[in-house]
Amino acid sequence: MMGHQKTVQDQLFYSFHLDDHVPQSHLLRAIDRVLDFSDLPSQLAGHYSHTGRPSVPPELMIRILIIGYCYGIRSERRLCEEVHLNLAYRWFCRIGLEDPVPEHSTFSKNRHGRFRESGIFRWLFESVVQRCMDAGLVQGEGFAVDASLIAANANAQQSVPGDELGEAWKGVSANRSRAVREYLEALDEAAPEESAPKRISLTDPQSRWIAMRGNPAIFAYSTNYLVDIAKGIILDVEATPAYRPAEVESTRRMIERVERQHALKPQRLIGDTAYGAAPMLAWLVEKKGIAPHVPVWDKSERNDGTFSRKDFVWEAELDAYRCPAGHPLRSDWRSFRKPRTRVTQEETIIYRSSQSHCQDCSSKPQCCPNTPIRKIARSVHETARDVARQLASTQEYQRSYRERKKVEILFAHLKRILRLDRLRLRGLSGATDEFTLAATAQNLRRLAKFVAQSAPTPGEGVPI
Ligand code: SF4
Repeated sequence: MMGHQKTVQDQLFYSFHLDDHVPQSHLLRAIDRVLDFSDLPSQLAGHYSHTGRPSVPPELMIRILIIGYCYGIRSERRLCEEVHLNLAYRWFCRIGLEDPVPEHSTFSKNRHGRFRESGIFRWLFESVVQRCMDAGLVQGEGFAVDASLIAANANAQQSVPGDELGEAWKGVSANRSRAVREYLEALDEAAPEESAPKRISLTDPQSRWIAMRGNPAIFAYSTNYLVDIAKGIILDVEATPAYRPAEVESTRRMIERVERQHALKPQRLIGDTAYGAAPMLAWLVEKKGIAPHVPVWDKSERNDGTFSRKDFVWEAELDAYRCPAGHPLRSDWRSFRKPRTRVTQEETIIYRSSQSHCQDCSSKPQCCPNTPIRKIARSVHETARDVARQLASTQEYQRSYRERKKVEILFAHLKRILRLDRLRLRGLSGATDEFTLAATAQNLRRLAKFVAQSAPTPGEGVPI
């Protein structure tokens, strides 16, 4: 018999408990168990007035933001609507059925104001990392580093060539946005770059104009991850303009910060060729004592049939290379009354063969067919480069090479599942906020699943 829906009749009283309607296996239950906001009031104490109307509780706003980043809800307006409608979200935020949800405009006021000034997102990220460490998810033996491009919230149409920026500023100087003011302040502090960027956005000038292979150029930032390779926990995150030297520089800061903050220093660092420049390798090997599992950035290989640098043998005790014909290449053929370092601006020392050897050499067509002598530029950090080259032939390096994929998986998750393929906030500090919260969400999801799997409570499954 076909059933019929009963006529709706409002009850006078309901017996309703939110907790009964959130599945035991819900991801937010597991996240809630690993979160600890007991220190939050003290972190923010100096940024709230003691008078006036009570504000929206910061814990509530941070819980709502965690939902947004865990479930890839990017719009704050939509996030507030979802919290209003979704019982599990209300439960996680400790909002009763009849309690109001904060206005979406509250977020932008707090994000750009007291949250940013207090560094609360960084505090949240680091406290979650500490919880991952306490749960045994971090080993500290091997770290991996990588960067991924995220499109900035900047329209390519509203941009000018880098060398025409001065003229273009005149049009926007009267009404400078937060992102533009931040850029100008950073310019005052930073050392000038060697060349002007190709294009500069007038709405988010700290983003970098960059072409990705097979795609049109965009304005972008890079999110830089330092990951503990054991379980893929993100130990540090930093936003930089999408610019390779800035990404490499951020690696040093992240390694130093993790050492300072969590007393963790890896035995090996895994990275791609971008991190294989000589100064970076020297910093890792000589200053930090970290084994660089990184391909060496090397442009000395020749493909025209002439001798490459690897055909010349380095003889450290003589401070000279030995050429295939058995003659030395030296940096000190000439002696100067006033000693010189012989180090070039590129931090190399030039080793030269002797013209008297080369002019009668039968190998000259394969060695230096167009010049009277052969020159080899040796980096002052060549010892560190040699260490990296030796490591590249080991079994551990092969393992590290495979483990590097763990960082790439995190970036894929960030873009596809958390939908952070384009920023909503502008400026480097906006990118910092977004990347820090997204990395926090990634760690929280991983920690919550691990805790639920290792010690499930009765009736609980693995979080969905
Ligand atoms: S050309 Fe000069 S440097 Fe090259 S192999 Fe002959 S002697 Fe050595």
